[in-house]
Amino acid sequence: MTIANQKGGVGKTTSSVNLAASLAMHGAQVLVVDLDPQGNASTALGIDHHAEVPSIYDVLIEDMPLAEIVVPAPEIPNLFCAPATLNLAGAEIELVSKVARESRLQRALEAYNKEKFDYVLIDCPPSLGLLTVNALVGGDELLIPIQCEYYALEGLGQLIRTVDLVKAHLNPTLSVSTILLTMYDARTRLAAQVAEDVRNHFGDVVLSTVIPRSVRVSEAPSYGQSVMTYDPGSSGALAYSEAASEMAHRGAGAVQ
Ligand code: ADP
Ligand code: MG
Repeated sequence: MTIANQKGGVGKTTSSVNLAASLAMHGAQVLVVDLDPQGNASTALGIDHHAEVPSIYDVLIEDMPLAEIVVPAPEIPNLFCAPATLNLAGAEIELVSKVARESRLQRALEAYNKEKFDYVLIDCPPSLGLLTVNALVGGDELLIPIQCEYYALEGLGQLIRTVDLVKAHLNPTLSVSTILLTMYDARTRLAAQVAEDVRNHFGDVVLSTVIPRSVRVSEAPSYGQSVMTYDPGSSGALAYSEAASEMAHRGAGAVQ
């Protein structure tokens, strides 16, 4: 599942990490692929990602097998991460001249022992460049986090058009399966209005669970933790757990 939205700060990384943690804590085998040069997902999972660490850059640019870079998350059993380092910023340009530049992540995932995992979540950078295209080609489903703020829907058209192009030319299996409303502030009418607009527009694809704005969620990464371990009883952790459960049930429905 690819987690993308070219807007920054909408909760892509937070959702990747906490949904992954939640699924893993319920016994699923989960891999998070960090595809953002900032390496925020790696940080939040407590994984070292300084420049010398073998990373997703080596996989995309140097053909290193994923098996050589994937590491277990220290806090949570069953949870693994393919870390990103800052040199991934250069990959956006280095990929341009590579063979099969849009499909390099897909190839790496196919060559990797994917059977080991129940879920692979790919955290994207805030752009629609080649890294995000690799994530869209590499995934079967797209999860779009939408922040419940003004401008939330701006740019979504462009994302959907990119998805349609990828579907038509590179990855026919891709579908926008899930939309998650994030940073919901129940005190504002604006948040309720945005949520309603998104539900009217996208219907059943939108998870009924909404992630509330919560200080605990934003504090957790500074301790190298997901909110699921940092404060399991907090409103943010409970919401992510519920969203993960909704996703798991949908998945089970799809299999049936
Ligand atoms: P993106 O990956 O889309 O750029 P992030 O997941 O990094 O977005 O979130 C942007 C910022 O908002 C981060 O500082 C994060 O800690 C904070 N944040 C995300 N979700 C919440 C939430 N539910 N409540 C409070 N802060 C949040
Ligand atoms: Mg991010």
